Amino acid sequence: MDVMTYAEQLRFGEIHLVSDEKTGLKGIVALHNLKLGPAIGGCRCIPYPSTDAAMYDVMRLARGMTYKAAISKLPHGGGKSVIMRPPVLEHGSEARQRFFERFADFIDSLGGHYLVAEDSGTTIADMDTIRSRTPHVLGSGASDASGDPSPFTALGVRRGIQAAVKFRYGRDDMDGLHVAIQGLGNVGHHLARELHDLGARLTVTDVRPEAIARAKAEFGAVGVAPEAIYAVDADIFAPCALGAVINDDTIDQLKVDIVAGASNNQLAEDRHGLGLKERGILYAPDYAINAGGLINVACEFEGYDANKSLQLTAQIYDTMLAIFDRAQTDAAPTNVIADRIVEEIIYA
Ligand code: NAD
Repeated sequence: MDVMTYAEQLRFGEIHLVSDEKTGLKGIVALHNLKLGPAIGGCRCIPYPSTDAAMYDVMRLARGMTYKAAISKLPHGGGKSVIMRPPVLEHGSEARQRFFERFADFIDSLGGHYLVAEDSGTTIADMDTIRSRTPHVLGSGASDASGDPSPFTALGVRRGIQAAVKFRYGRDDMDGLHVAIQGLGNVGHHLARELHDLGARLTVTDVRPEAIARAKAEFGAVGVAPEAIYAVDADIFAPCALGAVINDDTIDQLKVDIVAGASNNQLAEDRHGLGLKERGILYAPDYAINAGGLINVACEFEGYDANKSLQLTAQIYDTMLAIFDRAQTDAAPTNVIADRIVEEIIYA
């Protein structure tokens, strides 16, 4: 599919390009939808095999940000930027500094329609460089910035799990409920702590044995091998490692009532949402439940206040319940309903 057809299919929006001979910067900013406010989205700086590959990636990701911001009721649209990383761009080098200054000027030229943040291949130091040239950056190392998003993402996922438990079991507590967590990284470990503190029983996995050992020691978790996590007989499966984990190979292994975790793009394909519904498994749509990090960084826009951020993140509970209720009323998969709610807001 050509780029313009793809843009039409995703209902874009604007796409801006920069190519700077002096610094070697080749970048794209995709602004998917600005109806609710300036777009927020991270900047990826990774090698791409072609400009087309970068273009499709940035468009897909920008659209995802529109949906995540809108479902979270943020006054923001969705955007994303990608930089085609040159072969040499050493951290801390003068060349990298000039490179991101030029990128900052490009962001600045968009007049505040796009607020950039850190993503794969960019660092807090790069955001600091950008901030030295434009105010349109979030999540820098400045003292008034929002800091590490992971604890907020974990809080949001925990609230989303509680909403799923309320909807599925009519319970307000997590006491004795069994959660299988896949991935004990920045989000997964925080989530494990939150659930343990609420009395949940944990079975965990990771490809890093030391992460499992830590969860065993701190939370009394049971560890299993990475490939064994799908078949754990638990109440809830929380994917917090990879995307596409709900797929043709895994879906029939699941012995849980609820799938609710932090990973992006958990469904290999949209039809797997229907597959979960048909198996009686309640799915918490990924971009709604894992929005805590975005909510936190968005709080910076109006002056960061950690308490306000915690409060807004905790409201993921209500967002999830609204999705579950509507899915029941409309007899549709929850992933379809989440998209429907967003599209009613942004295309009304
Ligand atoms: P992370 O890289 O810190 O943690 C991922 C963990 O998964 C690591 O401990 C890694 O060893 C483990 N892992 C990798 N492959 C695995 C496998 N096959 N089986 C089991 N474990 C495996 O990442 P994170 O920041 O904790 O994010 C986790 C997921 O949540 C990612 O998909 C990310 O995109 C998504 N997410 C994160 C945030 C955030 O605020 N960090 C926000 C939204 C979404």
